[in-house]
Amino acid sequence: MTTGFKKQPKGFATKAIHAGQNPLQWSSKSIVPPIYLSTTYKQDGPGEYESYDYSRSGNPTRTVLEKCLAALDGAEYGLAFASGLGATTAIFSLLNAGDHLVVGDDVYGGTSRLIRQIMSRLGIEHTFVDATDLAAVGSAIQANTKLVWVESPTNPLMKVVDIIKISQICNKNKVLLAVDNTFLTPYFQRPLELGADMVCYSLTKYMNGHSDVVMGAIILNSEDLYNRLKFLQNSMGIVPSPFDCYQVNRGLKTLHIRMELHQKNSIAVAKFLEGHPFVEKVMHPALPSHPQHQIALKQTYGYSGVFSFYIKGGLEQSKAFLQNLKIIALAESLGGYESLAELPEVMTHASIPEEIRKKLGINAALIRLSIGLEDIDDLIQDVENALSKAMNL
Ligand SMILES: *Cc1c(COP(=O)(O)O)cnc(C)c1O
Repeated sequence: MTTGFKKQPKGFATKAIHAGQNPLQWSSKSIVPPIYLSTTYKQDGPGEYESYDYSRSGNPTRTVLEKCLAALDGAEYGLAFASGLGATTAIFSLLNAGDHLVVGDDVYGGTSRLIRQIMSRLGIEHTFVDATDLAAVGSAIQANTKLVWVESPTNPLMKVVDIIKISQICNKNKVLLAVDNTFLTPYFQRPLELGADMVCYSLTKYMNGHSDVVMGAIILNSEDLYNRLKFLQNSMGIVPSPFDCYQVNRGLKTLHIRMELHQKNSIAVAKFLEGHPFVEKVMHPALPSHPQHQIALKQTYGYSGVFSFYIKGGLEQSKAFLQNLKIIALAESLGGYESLAELPEVMTHASIPEEIRKKLGINAALIRLSIGLEDIDDLIQDVENALSKAMNL
């Protein structure tokens, strides 16, 4: 399929399958990395050990995953956390009381809640800004700003942020840039290549890909930041379980194949919706109708399965659509092999204050889809049928 995106360099799949997995690191020469459940490790003498002393501080199964994750972003370091928000918490904890943070205004609801309701209570100031407006990002940076946090595409409005340009603004102001890359994964976008300092993931989504693990990660190249974040990972206790690390590591083995099909299926559904009389507007970065389509082509290798659209009408029509879907399940989250649909206003983004939701355009007609790996004809038929039920209310 020709999509016009940047061409993916060779080697991604081999890294996903082999990076960090060398069988010779285990005495058993096990091809599949073992799950180390032990919480503690025998020491050679008091305080004398090679790699591991206690499993919060480090665990061999987690190390395998962290090495593989780092390789996929072409980076030096990876750190796995108990959840995407756990990883986000660690990054925000690099800041001190009195520091200031600039955040894209259209970020994951939980990120927004963490900033507004917890970090602000700890004395960390913030400014929300439309990150597609570069002048606004520049002028939001203050003398005490330490970090700029963006998602691209944003959630749930799918605005594409020019990461290269934002990183230039950050560099000029000596401010760190963190990018939440959950929606695209390193297969489609590698923010460190675009100038970001840290990449944050909810591994819960595409990276694990099977909707059965909650986990997060931070990927980066700076040794200093890595040491500070590793200290926070251990000191704050935001670590994942060895079994979950095993699961995510296994999920990564098929990431490239899954993402190609998510892309293909989501473009097909988006095109169908775009041509449907009961659809007001489709927001899909791979479609030429998307306002930042050219930026998407410039900075990414492709697009995933999640996108949004406005149905004609309001809550009644959205509800009828969502409740008449038969294959696509009405549920939060995204990035699994199965297709999901949701209403951000009352589900994923309900914790955002109403006046902000209104300003952004998160209303009862906005529906977010996570297109999975089912047969495309079945998905389109499902959407078509649910739309006709909503139309004929
Ligand atoms: C889900 C999600 C998160 C939070 O991750 P959890 O694993 O649920 O804690 C953060 N950012 C984005 C973009 C997400 O979709």
